Amino acid sequence: MKLYCICPPRDGLLYVDLPSPNHVLNLLLTCQFKNHANFRTIDGRTPHFGGTIAFPADYLVMLGVRPTWYVRKDQPADHSLAITQLLQDGWYEDELAAELHEGGGGDQYAAECEWRSTSNGMRFDPRMVVRIWLKDRELIESVREFAPNARVTVGRAPRGKLNPCRMGSGDVTHNRREFGYRRNGKSKVQKAIDFVADQAGFNVSWRWCREADAEHTESPRQYMHTWHDGWDGICVARAATELPIQNLVALVAHEVGHLIMGDRPGELEADRIGGEIVGGLVKYDEWAVQTIGPGVDRKTALKHYRDPL
Ligand SMILES: [Zn+2]
Ligand SMILES: [Zn+2]
Repeated sequence: MKLYCICPPRDGLLYVDLPSPNHVLNLLLTCQFKNHANFRTIDGRTPHFGGTIAFPADYLVMLGVRPTWYVRKDQPADHSLAITQLLQDGWYEDELAAELHEGGGGDQYAAECEWRSTSNGMRFDPRMVVRIWLKDRELIESVREFAPNARVTVGRAPRGKLNPCRMGSGDVTHNRREFGYRRNGKSKVQKAIDFVADQAGFNVSWRWCREADAEHTESPRQYMHTWHDGWDGICVARAATELPIQNLVALVAHEVGHLIMGDRPGELEADRIGGEIVGGLVKYDEWAVQTIGPGVDRKTALKHYRDPL
């Protein structure tokens, strides 16, 4: 029996409610959340009615968005067993992530059916937005322009359908695997490869590679290479499975950049092409590893990066 409750995205979407159509346009222009990114499922409700943006839930999960969970009220309260179950079901990578996403006591916020980013300043690709609702017609054309793949309509987004945590039943019918996320490393790399290949519009081959393993041991920020003995695919070090998906997507995008460039050098060029493919900038995190999350430029990163050894 599950001791926890989360709101599954029954329609495969996660929603952001905003106070006004202007806020919607602003978010689409910056493509970045200011602090934590907060979403709700179709079953949640928030006090904002100015406009709503909907993303595919599986895309957001790739960016590190996870559900808020609650202790079930109709089961004996066992906090640590609930966390064990959450990890087993693949909702969170580790105990800390699970604890960070625990909801408030009672049903304080349970009505929102909230999902939340793990870090501040999460960036997103506006081409991934699938649906937008606006309170009125004003700004509808501008919003359409900045979210080219979204269906934009005037009206109110669906909300507050059937909140399982609030009703206390906690009927968890989904787990993360149903969205195609497995905890095993190969699937995580595969997911990043599939995502980038899909955005690029062609197939991308990849394999584990001992030389990539050796390069990573030598230089910890190296995880992948291309054109190994002239092969037009991506070689991946096993250590890549430990990386967050934001890094994996950026690294794969960078390597696809190399594949497109052919066998000639150019790290910034590979980042630029990779960024175009995933619809954003490839930046560098504090370990100077490419990321589609918050980061700095390559030069700054290489100057100041933290050596994990
Ligand atoms: Zn190789
Ligand atoms: Zn490179």
